[in-house]
Amino acid sequence: MFPGTLSGGVVGRALEKGSWSYDVINIRDFAINNYGSVDDEQFGGGVGMVMRPEPLSDALDSIKNRGKIIYFSPRGATLNQKMVREFTVDSDATYTLICGRYEGIDQRIIDEYDITELSIGDYILSGGEIAAQVFVDSCVRLLDNVLGGGAEATENESFEIGGLEWPLYTRPSVWRGHKVPEVLLSGHHGNIERWRKQQSDEITKERRPDLIKEK
Ligand code: SAH
Repeated sequence: MFPGTLSGGVVGRALEKGSWSYDVINIRDFAINNYGSVDDEQFGGGVGMVMRPEPLSDALDSIKNRGKIIYFSPRGATLNQKMVREFTVDSDATYTLICGRYEGIDQRIIDEYDITELSIGDYILSGGEIAAQVFVDSCVRLLDNVLGGGAEATENESFEIGGLEWPLYTRPSVWRGHKVPEVLLSGHHGNIERWRKQQSDEITKERRPDLIKEK
């Protein structure tokens, strides 16, 4: 599953350049028996298996520099751009990302290793790997020299501008009879900026009023 989607695009190129790197640990290498078992039935009953603590603690203990440990889980705080910014303030930071399977991991692991739970949204995935790739992708694109265009390339995005992005247009200036808004072809930077701000405010008010209240 790794690097998976992280091998493509700007994040993949950054990986090749060495702007970031990763190691994958297969929990099954720390299984409790020769059958590769890492999970067991839930105490208290109920359907669904739980990842046992020993394979996880052995895996975690095998890591020299763990940094902050994150467990992807629907119970965590929901990842947003502000949090992504904070995770990347130190561009040399190391993170250990635990991808859950089954119903999740034994609570004692979370307590023992002081693990931060992080969600990527209010829905249930079958495993944490996609969540980990969401986390890495969103962090890596903020690292220096990953996106062309410098700081501006990341600062002009939705959420970074205090709302959602304005409508985007590229060539041709007329397509199927639809014209690009005149102001964008005018070359008048002040007017363009005002138009974008007004469009962004309107879209944000309509779709995500919660973002405006947050300010
Ligand atoms: N029993 C859990 C869901 C388990 S889903 C619950 O009700 O909260 C299996 C694994 O997928 C989880 O351990 C977690 O690592 C991952 N996962 C599922 N949904 C996720 C989400 N919204 N955000 C981050 N990780 C998620």
